[in-house]
Amino acid sequence: MAARFGSMTGLQCARRWSTVRLVAGRDPLVACRRWAGSTADTVYDVVVSGGGLVGTAMACALGHDIHFRDKKILLLEAGPKKVLENLSETYSNRVSSITPGSATLLSSFGAWDHICNMRCKAFRRMQVWDSCSDALIMFNKDNLDVMGYIVENDVIMHALTKQLEAVADRVRVLYRSKAVGYAWPGPFSMADSSPWVHITLGDGSTLQTKLLIGADGRNSGVRQAAGIRNVSWNYDQSAVVATLHLSEATENNVAWQRFLPSGPIALLPLSDTLSSLVWSTSHDHAAELVSMDEEEFVDAINSAFPTRVSARQLPPSIAKVDAESRAFFPLGLGHAAEYVRPRVALIGDAAHRVHPLAGQGVNMGFGDISSLVRHLSTAAFNGKDLGSMSHLTQYETDRQRHNTVLLAATDLLKRLYSTRAIPLVLLRTWGLQATNAVSPLKEQIMAFASK
Ligand SMILES: Cc1cc2nc3c(=O)[nH]c(=O)nc-3n(C[C@H](O)[C@H](O)[C@H](O)COP(=O)(O)OP(=O)(O)OC[C@H]3O[C@@H](n4cnc5c(N)ncnc54)[C@H](O)[C@@H]3O)c2cc1C
Repeated sequence: MAARFGSMTGLQCARRWSTVRLVAGRDPLVACRRWAGSTADTVYDVVVSGGGLVGTAMACALGHDIHFRDKKILLLEAGPKKVLENLSETYSNRVSSITPGSATLLSSFGAWDHICNMRCKAFRRMQVWDSCSDALIMFNKDNLDVMGYIVENDVIMHALTKQLEAVADRVRVLYRSKAVGYAWPGPFSMADSSPWVHITLGDGSTLQTKLLIGADGRNSGVRQAAGIRNVSWNYDQSAVVATLHLSEATENNVAWQRFLPSGPIALLPLSDTLSSLVWSTSHDHAAELVSMDEEEFVDAINSAFPTRVSARQLPPSIAKVDAESRAFFPLGLGHAAEYVRPRVALIGDAAHRVHPLAGQGVNMGFGDISSLVRHLSTAAFNGKDLGSMSHLTQYETDRQRHNTVLLAATDLLKRLYSTRAIPLVLLRTWGLQATNAVSPLKEQIMAFASK
C-alpha cells in the first residue's frame, strides 16, 4: 500500500482520495505523501479509537483472545492515562450498575477479579415506584443470585488498564493521542477489497489499519468520518450524581428508583453505609440541586422518596452528602443507523446513547464487545480479512436486534413517566402492577436486561 501511494503522482493521489476529515483544512496530498513513508509500527490489524470504558475493554478482550495472538492492536485515547494507585476511602461519584452478563465478559479476560479485589457492591433486589400512584414493581431473584453490581467507573478502568498491561506485547496504547482524521484512500464502497483505513493523529503522525473500531463516545468522529447517520435528541433533563451517607448502617443490597414527574431518582448501594445518587430532573432543578447547601440537598432527597409504601419496602434515609461529590450531566438519546461499514465498526456510546434510568449504557457497550470479539475471533481463526463486511454485518445484526429494543423501551419509559396526564398515569399504574404480578414476564425483563 505504502509503495503504491509512493509511486503515484500528486494528482492521481488527490483523485483517488475520498476522505472525510475531523479537522478541516488538511491537504490530502500532504497526508498522502506522509503515508508513502509508513513503517511497520504504524500498521495494525485493529485500531480502537477511544479509550473510555468500552474502548479499553475492547482492546483488552482482543488482546486476551487466543486467535489474536499474532495480531497487532492499537488503542488510541485522547486523554491521559488514568492511574488509581490506592483506593481512597472516599468513593467516586461516577458509578455504573453492571449486569451479570457484563461481569462475565470482564471475567473472560481477568478484569473482574481485580474489581472484586478492589471494591464493588452486589445488589439482589430492585424496587421501582411511580410517585403519582405509588404502584410498584419489585425485581428479585428467588435463589438469592445477584441482580447486578454497583462499581465505580475508576475501579473498572483500573482493572482494565491492569489487564491491558498483561498483553502489552500485542496491544499498544497511546494516551494523549487524539485521532484527527480518518481516510479511506480509494472510493469508499461496500466492497471488501477497499484499502486499509488511514488515521491521522493530532501530532501529524499517521497509521494504517485493516479494521478501525470507533469507541470514541457519543460525538464519535469515526461515525462522522464513515458517513454513518445518527438519530439523536437531547432530553429536557440532566442527571445529578452524588455520594450519600445513610442515616444508619443496613445490609443495603437493594437498588431503589422512584419516578417523579420531573424524572427518576435512584439510590444505588455502594456499601453498608453509602449509596450513590442518580437523579434525573430538569436542567434548572439539577443546577439548583448541586448549588443548594448540603442540608437542603439531603432534605430534597429524603422527601423525594416515600416514607410509606408498605411496611417492608422502605428505602434508607440519607444523613449526609460527601462534600464535592455533587455534579450533573445533560442526558440524551442517540442511535447510529448502521454499526458497520467496510473496515469500520462502532461500539459503545459511539453507536448508541441511552437515558441512565435503566442503567444500561455501558452494559450495552460491553454486550457489543462480546458479540464483535466472537465474530472477529472466528474470522481470525479462519484466516479471513478482519475488515470484511461478511462478519461485521453479523455483529451489526446481533447488536441492533438487542440495542434497538432497549433504546426504544428506555425512551418510552422516560416519556411515559414524565407526565401527570391521568390516562397515562392509569396506564402505567396498570402496567407496573400487571408486570409485578406476572412472574414469567418479570423474569423475561430481568433476563433481557441482565445480558
Ligand atoms: C449520570 C450517568 C449515569 C450512568 N449510569 C450508568 C449505569 O449505571 N450503567 C450503565 O451501564 N451505564 C451508565 N451510564 C452510561 C455510561 O456511562 C456510558 O454508556 C459509558 O460510559 C460510555 O462509554 P464509552 O467508552 O462508549 O464512551 P466514553 O466514555 O464517552 O469514552 C469515549 C472515549 O473516547 C475518547 N475519544 C473521543 N474522541 C477521540 C479521538 N478523536 N481520538 C482518541 N480518543 C478519543 C474520549 O477521550 C473518551 O475517553 C451512565 C451515564 C450517565 C451520564
